[in-house]
Amino acid sequence: MLFEVRGLVIRTVDIKETDRLVTIFTEERGAISALARGARSLKSRKLAATMQFCYGNYVLYQQGDKLWVKEAELIESFFDIRQTIEGLALANYIAEILSDVTVEEAERDLLRLSLNTLYAIAKGRYSLDKIKAVFEIRTASIIGFMPDVIFCHKCHGKDGDFFFDIMGGVIECRECRDKAILERELPSDPHESKIITILSPGAKDALGYAIYSPLEKVFSFNLSDEDMRLFSRAAEEYLLNQLGHSYKTLDFYREVKR
Ligand SMILES: [Zn+2]
Repeated sequence: MLFEVRGLVIRTVDIKETDRLVTIFTEERGAISALARGARSLKSRKLAATMQFCYGNYVLYQQGDKLWVKEAELIESFFDIRQTIEGLALANYIAEILSDVTVEEAERDLLRLSLNTLYAIAKGRYSLDKIKAVFEIRTASIIGFMPDVIFCHKCHGKDGDFFFDIMGGVIECRECRDKAILERELPSDPHESKIITILSPGAKDALGYAIYSPLEKVFSFNLSDEDMRLFSRAAEEYLLNQLGHSYKTLDFYREVKR
């Protein structure tokens, strides 16, 4: 039986002389793997749409316990993400996250976010660290771990510096935190506990923006360098903590950014 999916190729493995196994992150079914026979042959009509980071329409069929690609039609190749090694490294990190998260119902938003993110990398209009942080915090929110970063979770205050509780997904203002320290609920040094990260007002607003803004405008905000540093750290730590581990592609991205 034939069926059609629309999605992003997040991983490819070359098999035999001209075959290619593709993992596609689809709107309809999350990540699925299918074998594209002869896809690497220069004559193949599947060649252009079965490369990594291609977004397209795919006609698939099931034979035995495997899926096969019958037809592949390219919508967008995001070829320009390969212009810099840092951009390609970030795209690979995004692909690894997509292959790791299991979501139901949220695929459409996560796919849209991923396409917008690859587009932003390809266009080079925003810094890669900003693109990465936005992707991280929005992904966490889409897959069910939306943190509460608008008000202090104790007094509902909105102003000043905040402490982001990465495990709890809440923020606490300085006054409430000082009070908690006096009452010996918390260690006095915020760095003593690895799960707390400091948020300046700008970094806090950036988190809120990246979580709640429409996806098509998700990168459209400005931050000072210091706010960006805090925003980036908070977003990365939060996502990795929710997913429970780090990623090889992230290590590689950090390496090439140095
Ligand atoms: Zn408070």
